[in-house]
Amino acid sequence: MSYKIHILSPELSNKIAAGEVVQRPAAAVKELIENSLDAKATRISVIVRDAGKALIQVVDDGEGMSEQDASLAFRRHATSKIRSAGDLEDIRTLGFRGEALASIAAVSQVELKTRTDADDLATHIRIEGSETIEKSKSALERGTNITVRNLFYNTPARRNFLKTRHTELKNITDVIVRMAIAYPEVEWFYASDDEVMLDLKAVPIDQRVTDVFGKTQFGSMIKFESANELLTANGFLGKPNFARKSRIEQFVFLNRRFIFSRMINHAVFQAYEHLLEKGSFPFFMLNLTIDPKKIDVNVHPSKMEVKFENESNIYRMVLSTVRKALAEHDLIPSMSFRDGNAVSPIDAKIQFSDQSWKRSVIDQNGAPVFPLHPDVRTGDHTAATTPNIIGLEDLHQAASTPDNSLTFDAPASSTSLHRVLGQRSALEQSPAPESRPIWQAHNKYIISQIPSGLMIIDQHAAHERILYERVMANFENTLPSSQQLLFPETVDMGASDYALVKELLPDLVRLGFDMRLFGKNTVVIDGIPADVRIGNEKKILHEVLDEFKNNEHAGVKDVRDNLAKSFACKAAIKAGDRLNMTEMVVLIEHLFLAKVPYVCPHGRPVIVRVPLEELDKRFGRT
Ligand code: ADP
Ligand code: MG
Repeated sequence: MSYKIHILSPELSNKIAAGEVVQRPAAAVKELIENSLDAKATRISVIVRDAGKALIQVVDDGEGMSEQDASLAFRRHATSKIRSAGDLEDIRTLGFRGEALASIAAVSQVELKTRTDADDLATHIRIEGSETIEKSKSALERGTNITVRNLFYNTPARRNFLKTRHTELKNITDVIVRMAIAYPEVEWFYASDDEVMLDLKAVPIDQRVTDVFGKTQFGSMIKFESANELLTANGFLGKPNFARKSRIEQFVFLNRRFIFSRMINHAVFQAYEHLLEKGSFPFFMLNLTIDPKKIDVNVHPSKMEVKFENESNIYRMVLSTVRKALAEHDLIPSMSFRDGNAVSPIDAKIQFSDQSWKRSVIDQNGAPVFPLHPDVRTGDHTAATTPNIIGLEDLHQAASTPDNSLTFDAPASSTSLHRVLGQRSALEQSPAPESRPIWQAHNKYIISQIPSGLMIIDQHAAHERILYERVMANFENTLPSSQQLLFPETVDMGASDYALVKELLPDLVRLGFDMRLFGKNTVVIDGIPADVRIGNEKKILHEVLDEFKNNEHAGVKDVRDNLAKSFACKAAIKAGDRLNMTEMVVLIEHLFLAKVPYVCPHGRPVIVRVPLEELDKRFGRT
């Protein structure tokens, strides 16, 4: 047990990705912590002064080093972690390069105290610029205590190259946070200039994530887990409405090593597609476990880049795991009566005396449109038929008809909604099915009974989501669905709008605006998208162009995404539009076919759920 460290042969050390490992204090902190974890520490303390420039001290309760090992540890290519080239193919430790301590010792004043179980006294070594200047024995608990003073004292160029104190300290904190969430079973202490930054007990991962990111943020996370024969993946996903404007809170760990991987990040983002506004980034923590033989961490000296043997498999696995987790999870925001959204008795009174509300609950014959009857159709709408979407049972049930008087079993065709929502007048006399648990409130929200309680849909946001997805699909593949105008419409516009139309023309045509440039700032519209009411074409076109410019201004970069958003927003039914039963049912049916039914293209919620338990609690039924 006593002589573990050896110097790698030149043949082997030449196989190790070359490069400087200690460019900044945070890198030294990372290397020292990795050594403590490799030594199976259960307690790690990190103390820094002046953002690590004056002092970095890492103390652990790990295996420690014998005297011989301690003297060897600071030599270049000295390691106990690999022996042969074959070991490089199967790395199970965080370190393996045998360079960190040597690099640190070359540019600082290092003091090492370390003791193994087998030794009575600890070895104490002082090194300055790679020279051993003192060696002695002292008393110490088992473990290792390394103090690094005046980093880069003998390389002024590198010292000057450092960023501001604030930035360097932030880098150190980031390193420690990553380590702390990857190793919840380890106790962590971290202080900077006498200020305690972290003091974490060993706890299960949920508690560690809560301790590090706070209760509120933890509450916004979805926990997930999945495995196949190649890898296991688990972790936490931030709900889209908690997304941030920067990428800081994204963690990928591969075999408990923090890594940067464009490929994996891309897979995660792909899964969040349409749940997020452009330019906002969700929290995620993804732990991947793969057979070390199937990966290569010997790519970059920082060991944060990895090559995978099986890239596309991993990509697909991560994508589908995250997508499934997001889909399975109830992404519908619930309305809790406890969190300040409570409806006060006064509010309730106002609501009940509001005549428009009454009208939509009672139909022309005075019969209630929202009858009290038991849940209908408890049939099995499982993931088999609706693989991508969550809570579809609920949505489906809300739109399903108790009788067979009106069914919409082919809702994928774009015509029914267009017919119903686009040309509403034609349906004015269509018989409204009466006993369906759906009603419209304030000409703005659709309220429906679902098995788990009540569901409230924002009618504008819902229609916007449906139109957005339809337009995006049109851009991708199908021919535009456009209705021809009997008399082509000539539209004069300002020079800048004309220029914009010219630029967007191919996409506008795909969207369904069958148009020609007529010169002199005039365009001719021959046909309009199926969703636009005839007679409204000029207005919608202008509104779409204005919205497009606004979005562009607000940073929406992708032209088609912008156009789809602008069109969806302007062509959708508005708050204030009265809907009849058929329209509401069709809207819900189509919403439930959307890929992402729970958020509108701007990222606002489409659906709010009021859980039955909340109602029961409120009425004292529990
Ligand atoms: P590597 O970690 O790549 O092997 P390092 O230069 O970081 O190279 O460390 C050299 C060796 O010193 C390690 O292989 C390990 O045997 C020993 N060592 C370093 N830090 C510790 C520690 N905190 N506890 C026990 N052994 C350590
Ligand atoms: Mg190391």
